[in-house]
Amino acid sequence: MTARLLDGAALAQRIRAEVAERAAQLARQGTPPGLAVLLVGDDPASAVYVKHKVKDCEESGLRSVLQRLPADTTEADLLARIRALNADPAIHGILVQLPLPPHLDAQRVIETISPLKDVDGFHVASAGALMTGQRGFVPCTPLGVMRLLAHAGVDLAGAEAVVVGRSNIVGKPQAMLLLQASATVTICHSRTRDLAAHCRRADVLVVAAGRARMITGDMIKPGAVVIDVGMNRIPDGPQAGRLCGDVDFDSALAVAGAITPVPGGVGPMTRAMLLVNTLEAATRAAAR
Ligand code: NDP
Repeated sequence: MTARLLDGAALAQRIRAEVAERAAQLARQGTPPGLAVLLVGDDPASAVYVKHKVKDCEESGLRSVLQRLPADTTEADLLARIRALNADPAIHGILVQLPLPPHLDAQRVIETISPLKDVDGFHVASAGALMTGQRGFVPCTPLGVMRLLAHAGVDLAGAEAVVVGRSNIVGKPQAMLLLQASATVTICHSRTRDLAAHCRRADVLVVAAGRARMITGDMIKPGAVVIDVGMNRIPDGPQAGRLCGDVDFDSALAVAGAITPVPGGVGPMTRAMLLVNTLEAATRAAAR
C-alpha cells in the first residue's frame, strides 16, 4: 500500500485564487484588505518568511505594509507603532514576526495588537476565543491543517486524533480544533510515556515536534492520515540543507492512508491561511 499524498501546495494555490477574488470584491466596495508586517532585527530566517508573506499578499491583491525596524528598537517604540496600526482603518491585520530580539517581551508585544487585527491568532483573546468556541482568529498552521483535512474528506467525528507537540502556536490550537470537530484528542509531548503506542492508535496523527523523522512507519496505524508539520533542515550528509519533516516519509508512506509531504504540505497552507485571516479581518471590519 502507498499512502495518498495530501498536496498542500495545490490546495494553497486554489485558496490564494479565491482570496484574490474576494479581495478584489472588497476593494470595489471600498475596503481593500491591508496587512501590516513588523520585522525587528535582521534574523535571516525571519527576513525570508516576511519576504514570502509580502509576496503572497501582492499576488493575492492584498495591500501589505512592511515596517523593518533595527534590532535595538525599544519596546516603547514598537508598542507605539502597533497602537498606531491598531487605529489605522486601512490596516486590517497586524503581524509581528517572531522571534523578537531578547530585550523585547514578545507576549507584551502580541497583547498590544488589537484582537480584531490579530491575524496570527497569538493574542490571549484569540486563544480564549478558540478555547470557548467564540469568534476570533485561529493560528495559521493548525487552521491550514484543518482545511487540508476537510479538503481530503477526512471524517473527524469520533476519530482518534493524536497531536504530537503542545506549543501555543501549533499543538494546543490544533488539538482544540480537532476537538471542536468532534475527534477524540490526545496531546503528546516530550514527557509522554510510550509515544509510539499513542501514535499507533491514531486515525489522524498530527506531528509538530521539531524533531527530524522521529515518527517512523512502525509508529503509524495502517491507513491513518498523517499530517507532518515539522520543518527541519538536514544538517549534513548528501541531503544537507534540504527540508525534512518530523515524520520519516519513506517508511510512513508504506503504512499510512494519506500523508502530507515536506515541503509542499502544511507549509504552503500556513502561508495561505495568513491571507485568509487577513481577508476575514477586512470582511469583519467592512461589516462594522
Ligand atoms: P516547539 O519547539 O514550540 O514545540 C515542540 C513540541 O514538541 C513541544 O511541545 C515538545 O514537548 C514536543 N516534543 C519535542 N520533542 C518531543 C519528543 N521527542 N516526543 C514528543 N514530543 C516532543 O515547536 P513548534 O510547535 O513551534 O513547531 C513544531 C515544528 O513545526 C517545528 O519543526 C517547526 O519548524 C514546525 N513548524 C512548521 C510550520 C509550517 O508552516 N509547516 C509552522 C510552525 C512550525 P514539550 O512541550 O514537552 O517540550
